[in-house]
Amino acid sequence: MNSCFHREDGSHLFPNLCMTHSPPLIIGAGPVGMAAAAFLSRHGMTPRIVDKRAEPSKNSKALAVNPRTLELFEASGITDKLLALGRKIHGTTIHRNGRIVAEVNFEELEHRFPFMLALSQAATERVLREDLAERGIEIERQLELVDSPKLAEGKAELVHVETQANESVTAPWILASDGAHSLARKSVHVPFPGDTYDRAWVLDDIPLATDFAPDRAHIKLQDDGFLFLLPVFTGEEKPGEPTLWRVLGNYPEPLAQLTECTPIGESQWNSSFHIAHRLVEAMNVGKVYFAGDAAHLHSPVGARGMNLGIEDAWVFAELVKRNELSLYHQQRWPVDNAIVQRIRTMTGFVKGESFIKRMLRNFLAPKMLHWKSVRETMLKTVSGLDHPVPLFSTESEEPPTEEKPRSRRRDRDR
Ligand SMILES: Cc1cc2nc3c(=O)[nH]c(=O)nc-3n(C[C@H](O)[C@H](O)[C@H](O)COP(=O)(O)OP(=O)(O)OC[C@H]3O[C@@H](n4cnc5c(N)ncnc54)[C@H](O)[C@@H]3O)c2cc1C
Repeated sequence: MNSCFHREDGSHLFPNLCMTHSPPLIIGAGPVGMAAAAFLSRHGMTPRIVDKRAEPSKNSKALAVNPRTLELFEASGITDKLLALGRKIHGTTIHRNGRIVAEVNFEELEHRFPFMLALSQAATERVLREDLAERGIEIERQLELVDSPKLAEGKAELVHVETQANESVTAPWILASDGAHSLARKSVHVPFPGDTYDRAWVLDDIPLATDFAPDRAHIKLQDDGFLFLLPVFTGEEKPGEPTLWRVLGNYPEPLAQLTECTPIGESQWNSSFHIAHRLVEAMNVGKVYFAGDAAHLHSPVGARGMNLGIEDAWVFAELVKRNELSLYHQQRWPVDNAIVQRIRTMTGFVKGESFIKRMLRNFLAPKMLHWKSVRETMLKTVSGLDHPVPLFSTESEEPPTEEKPRSRRRDRDR
């Protein structure tokens, strides 16, 4: 708790006149904010972590934890907890016109975690929440960051969603992990350039009767789009229960396209969304640092969204420990940029919405996937192993070379 005036029940004595010097502050207790708190606590730090929601989200959202995330959580013991709940996905099968046209297998990675771990984001978040609770870090819920003109100076305005009690906080740094619509990002006016697709993508999590192997991801290339299928696991499956599948596609009704599978129950979650590829121009402004969806957005092709954000959190915590936060933009922006650009390219092929790309995708891509180097690029992109573990050695790692950073700004927080 901070130094604000509180009654014994924890409520504020002067709810509209409250100024506190806070410990470091994390805005947003999604997977990225919680991962940052978990990593920081291993470095002996106890940040404040606040979230405007009364309850954690129950939506499955990101369905796969990649080998890089398993690596990063390994020392904390979180990886073992995730492994105990999830199921191994050994590869991806690509189908067209009722035939298998290509397969890639994670065993080729030659890594100690040669698989993707299928686990719903809600379950991953539960593990992180329990880890924080065990380490004495309480998520302060229903506390919302509101318009904060001096955020870049570390001054955050927080409002309790129910009571409307407000609190002005001064923190040594603020990690903005407040998601795609980040108010922190807007408060410090950092540009978030990129593009958004017109055509909505739709997903359903639904039990299916199917011959598709449940230990693989499946991509169906259609004449005018694509379908993606992956089992949804939560770690709470009961024996004999039908497998829940995520069916995702760039159609208004992906299920209507799925001729070889039969729904055998109600859809558990249905959502329609527009895909964007965006990256902040600066990974920090003054004392505000961005991580996760607040910093970058891209399509779920490649399963990087949550995983890339967790890597941001890891790098951030490492730099805090080393007292080198001034290197955060330099360390993180080139990596995030390379990945957002690569996933934009991959998504352009997979969605198959232009004639030329569709031809390349349908006829060339399956053949190219027989080349080791192409398979390796795809596997490394999906697994998160397309660059070394950041900051693992004392000297900075070289950023990926294929895309040039748009900004070479250094030491932005000076
Ligand atoms: C429909 C859908 C499907 C998806 N499918 C996939 C997938 O298949 N694979 C994949 O990798 N990714 C997927 N994603 C993306 C993935 O869910 C995100 O990348 C991931 O949640 C990012 O985590 P985060 O912690 O950065 O942000 P979030 O999970 O968005 O968490 C942000 C948190 O900040 C809180 N917050 C926001 N504003 C404030 C404020 N002003 N004050 C206080 N708290 C605030 C929110 O309540 C929330 O808890 C999907 C997302 C959606 C919506």
